[in-house]
Amino acid sequence: MIYLDANATEPLRPEARAAAIAAMDCLGNPSSVHTDGRAARRLLEAARTTIGTRFGPGSVVFTSGGTEANALAIHGLAPGRRVLVGATEHPAVLAAAPGAVAIPVDGDGVVSLAALEALLREGPALVCLMAANNETGVQHPLAEVAALCRAAGAMLQVDAVQAAGRGTVPGGWHSLAISGHKMGGVKGAGALLLAPGVEIGALIAGGGQERGQRGGTEALPAIAAMAAAAVSDPSDLSVLRDRMEARLLDLAPEVVIAGKAVPRLGNTSCIALPGVAAETQVIALDLAGVRVSAGAACSSGKVARSHVLEAMGLGSLAGCAIRVSLPWNATEQDVDGFIIAWAAMRQRISRSAA
Ligand code: PLP
Repeated sequence: MIYLDANATEPLRPEARAAAIAAMDCLGNPSSVHTDGRAARRLLEAARTTIGTRFGPGSVVFTSGGTEANALAIHGLAPGRRVLVGATEHPAVLAAAPGAVAIPVDGDGVVSLAALEALLREGPALVCLMAANNETGVQHPLAEVAALCRAAGAMLQVDAVQAAGRGTVPGGWHSLAISGHKMGGVKGAGALLLAPGVEIGALIAGGGQERGQRGGTEALPAIAAMAAAAVSDPSDLSVLRDRMEARLLDLAPEVVIAGKAVPRLGNTSCIALPGVAAETQVIALDLAGVRVSAGAACSSGKVARSHVLEAMGLGSLAGCAIRVSLPWNATEQDVDGFIIAWAAMRQRISRSAA
């Protein structure tokens, strides 16, 4: 089996597993004042310090994952502001901001700074942009975006779910969303970082946990695992990925790789094979033992047309792109195995079309 679906979820890192198991043996509830509660609290606060130091400066609100962290940011920061969202944002952001104005992207998937600047002139705004796209890996120029937001007095929420743990996460934001399982942690924990001085109201009220910003007992094992994963050394997978893309283009010049010309995450490749449904490709590769995603798999397991490729003006390819995302432990053999399976799939499909 070859697992190349890291952007859906990364394999568990050994240090994250060890941290989760140790935390599972921690009996107390971090909100309890007795000795066991205080031990759990120490573990929780150590994780908070690790995450805050790694991605901050800022305070850290633990959540159930990236979806909730984005929703919490938008719920907390949107009142009184127009919400502007990148056209290629993840559904976690789009669903949390109904009625938001889309900021267009260019053919490479990079946000239009001119369009953003014009939108910012129209009044107080909350800008929601991802650090890296989950389907293409394309990174927005967030330093420039942050400067525009600062000049216009707008707030900036950055979805760093895919970028965190895979290199540098830029600064200049008011809030930043991350997710543990996308860094090699356990599913079920994420965090919202808030820049110094930024306070928000709770989306989920409850027992006053997380300084009243998120009710509910913290998922200590998943949080401990997220902190351990956050400080793991990121793998540089770009050489492996670039070699893979070069071989695919050699084999099949009709292949289109979305966002290839601009800065991207080193592990991600969005590969369109014109005329072949993404679902067909994913199933054929799965039968050959290779796990990849369609560009836009929704939670029901169905393959939807990719709104990301459509926003990039690649609508004709939106139903025929797969996403290959190398995990932190990917090897050259994995990529070789993928190329063999992909080439066999393409040959079978072109034979049956002939
Ligand atoms: N944001 C982006 C860019 C993502 O890729 C994902 C998950 O795929 C999310 C948010 C949601 O994260 P989670 O699965 O932790 O809720």
